[in-house]
Amino acid sequence: MKKQKKLIIIPLGGLGEVGRNMMLLEYQKKILIIDVGFRLPEESMPGIDCIIPNISYLRGKEKNILGIVFTHGHYDHIGAIPYIINKIWRPGLEIYASSLTRGIILKRQEEFPFQPKLEINKVKDGSRIKLGPFKIEFFKQNHNIPDNLGLFIQTPIGNLLHTSDFKFDPNPVNEPPTDFQKLKRIADRKILLLLSDSTGAEKEGHSFSEKEIFKNLEEIFKRSEGRIIAATFSSLINRIQQMITLSEKYKRKVIIEGRSMKTNVEISRNLHYLKVKKGTLINKKQIANFPDSKITVLCTGAQGEASAALMRITSKEHKSLRLKKGDSVILSSSVIPGNERTVQILKDNILRQGAKVFHYKMMDIHAGGHAKKEELKKMIEIMRPSFLLPIHGQYSMLVSHAQIAQEAGLPEKNIIVAENGQIINLTQKKISIEKQVVSSNYVMVDGLGIGDVGEVVLRDRKMLAQDGMFVIVAIIDRQTGKVKGSPDIISRGFVYLRESKKLLKDTRKQVITIVNKATGSGGAVNWTYLKDEIRNKIGEFLYKKTKRRPIILPVLIEV
Ligand SMILES: [Zn+2]
Repeated sequence: MKKQKKLIIIPLGGLGEVGRNMMLLEYQKKILIIDVGFRLPEESMPGIDCIIPNISYLRGKEKNILGIVFTHGHYDHIGAIPYIINKIWRPGLEIYASSLTRGIILKRQEEFPFQPKLEINKVKDGSRIKLGPFKIEFFKQNHNIPDNLGLFIQTPIGNLLHTSDFKFDPNPVNEPPTDFQKLKRIADRKILLLLSDSTGAEKEGHSFSEKEIFKNLEEIFKRSEGRIIAATFSSLINRIQQMITLSEKYKRKVIIEGRSMKTNVEISRNLHYLKVKKGTLINKKQIANFPDSKITVLCTGAQGEASAALMRITSKEHKSLRLKKGDSVILSSSVIPGNERTVQILKDNILRQGAKVFHYKMMDIHAGGHAKKEELKKMIEIMRPSFLLPIHGQYSMLVSHAQIAQEAGLPEKNIIVAENGQIINLTQKKISIEKQVVSSNYVMVDGLGIGDVGEVVLRDRKMLAQDGMFVIVAIIDRQTGKVKGSPDIISRGFVYLRESKKLLKDTRKQVITIVNKATGSGGAVNWTYLKDEIRNKIGEFLYKKTKRRPIILPVLIEV
């Protein structure tokens, strides 16, 4: 019997989490990559800059990679490029992105020298390309960043529809509303598999239109008599546009603060995705020329990011801007679960300085930009796919999306809830998950290191953060095997040494006893054993005395 042809789909990130989106489509060994995103670390990952997809599956298959297509310019779809691209890049690797997405990617690459110079082909609504067995048509999807493209992909098995992140918006910013007729025309070409954004799948109803968000923002502008300080994400181009438009309407001048915000405003303006009237933007020196009621400061830091502009302003570390009574601070909410406390502290600090705080969840990057239940159902009803693979979201969001699909009439067996690293087989008749998985665990980026910080290093960091460290330096006489003098103790984050003289004295005694006992009978000293003994016994001793467990580092010097 002829072996049945199949398409293989491998999500390397983004399924079972929010962020780090990256997916492989493979047909007869030819591989197409969709998005290369990162995610930000959780609170329990001290020192980690970001987390990127694990691409070990691609090792040895580099020459089979046909190309990469990007859906939009959010970092959870493009952010991992600088860490991954030189592992898969070769001259002639075809990369496609919309004009704005391309601009954001190339600008960011400038921060990473020693990288291959990327050539990115521009695509737009209606563009068609062919990469090996894949024919891709790009179509416009509304989101909260302009120039977002969904993908209609013809494969030898059947047609796939990848929604990108999306929402249906009757009144978007600077863009035409969702074109349902066009979506229907795409659907008429028969969709075998729908891959659809699940980020909003647990939220009832319909997402907010950008126009509704605009109205809410306008209320704040109407009521504010002092300066408006609006913090948002530098990638939320739509929100930035709204703040600028409102400032112009209410005759306010705008100051942009924060490096990434300045960069993104510049890129979006140059590419005409951001409309700013001449004279609207001013620099910090010009602030003094205008009354407070005519000033808007647009800055980064809505999430309480330590180094962002808003944080520097509230903590009085900013060079020229200070909060004052009468200011209105708009926070465009938090994204990362676990950052709530940081944002709370930020809010308190703003209020303490006499400013007002407006905090709208609906302006949140996730709440505001993604289709909710009603829209997801509508997308399924329009596309009428044979199969559904929920993508982009925590596991509970994927499951919720699967339920929506069942309500829309899709049989349970035709819906696959898959997670990162699973291998999904698609034929014309069937969708299934293989038992075997590919590596998809976190690859953590810390400074210049990619993937070198693993679970062990993180565990140490957490222990150091919890109970500190305790270093014991003992000099041992080679001849007698006895400790010479008194062992030295260095400690950080464990106890205040000056006030713990008794504890230190007792610890030194213990160390001497342990060493002398272990080396006393003469013969060769087993250093590994001795270090373990010190670590265990001193660990127990310190725990008994303090109920703390610092990391203990024995250093033994033989003289
Ligand atoms: Zn997005």
